[in-house]
Amino acid sequence: MVLMQVGCPLRCSFCATGKGGFARNLKGHEIVEQVLAIEESFKHRVTNVVFMGMGEPMLNLKAVLEAHQCLNKELKIGQRMMTISTVGVPNTISKLASHKLQSTLAVSLHAPNQRLRETIVPSAKAYPLEALMDDCKNYFLETGRRVSFEYTLLAGINDEKAHAEELAALLHACGGGYHVNLIPYNPVEGSEYKRPYRKAIQAFVDALESRKITVSVRQTRGLDANAACGQLRNEFQKNPLLESSPPSEPNQLLESSTPSESSLVPA
Ligand code: SF4
Repeated sequence: MVLMQVGCPLRCSFCATGKGGFARNLKGHEIVEQVLAIEESFKHRVTNVVFMGMGEPMLNLKAVLEAHQCLNKELKIGQRMMTISTVGVPNTISKLASHKLQSTLAVSLHAPNQRLRETIVPSAKAYPLEALMDDCKNYFLETGRRVSFEYTLLAGINDEKAHAEELAALLHACGGGYHVNLIPYNPVEGSEYKRPYRKAIQAFVDALESRKITVSVRQTRGLDANAACGQLRNEFQKNPLLESSPPSEPNQLLESSTPSESSLVPA
């Protein structure tokens, strides 16, 4: 798992990273260096990379593509062994599709309808679910690679059987054949959200599988828990990185994704 930004400006409501604010985009070489550092520390070749954990790759797409190319060509990590994970930023999925990468695009949905999604992912206000799903469908048509969907399960918020049924209907309407990766929420300090009970998780899985949606459940306990998208926040980030409030529109975020030095406050 590699980071693309220091912090993240999107502020998904459950996200530890988003709560810490946003400092800057990483350069392509800084993304690659994370992989080199892991290889050096563990004396082991990295064969699998996920662009996820801290930051939104679509807000730093140029650097992500540079890093992707370097990891593929220089470090010989197969394109199919890399995943780019996004919460969805308008007009960027088609841009990514035009590069025809053979990597997986994982889209974090977290809700089966627009109303609920906006409460969990505020940036979704500028990117209606219908438009996002259309972009996912077109991504498959252009690249031949099916998008996979991430869904963080939040107890009492989006984890009911009715949500699973609605999610299955949404995916079937988008062409079907999709995979859903469920991520039971890992509580972080100061969060109002709770992790669902095992029984609720299983009921959600059953409701999807009975509607012919393939599902996996990512175990997020322990160290790994802090590395899921939105669950990564370093000690230094427990103080906000930004003084100003975040931009509200994703387009605005795209334009301002490299903030000026003056927008930073000392960590
Ligand atoms: S969940 Fe991901 S996209 Fe959302 S604020 Fe956190 S790091 Fe950013």
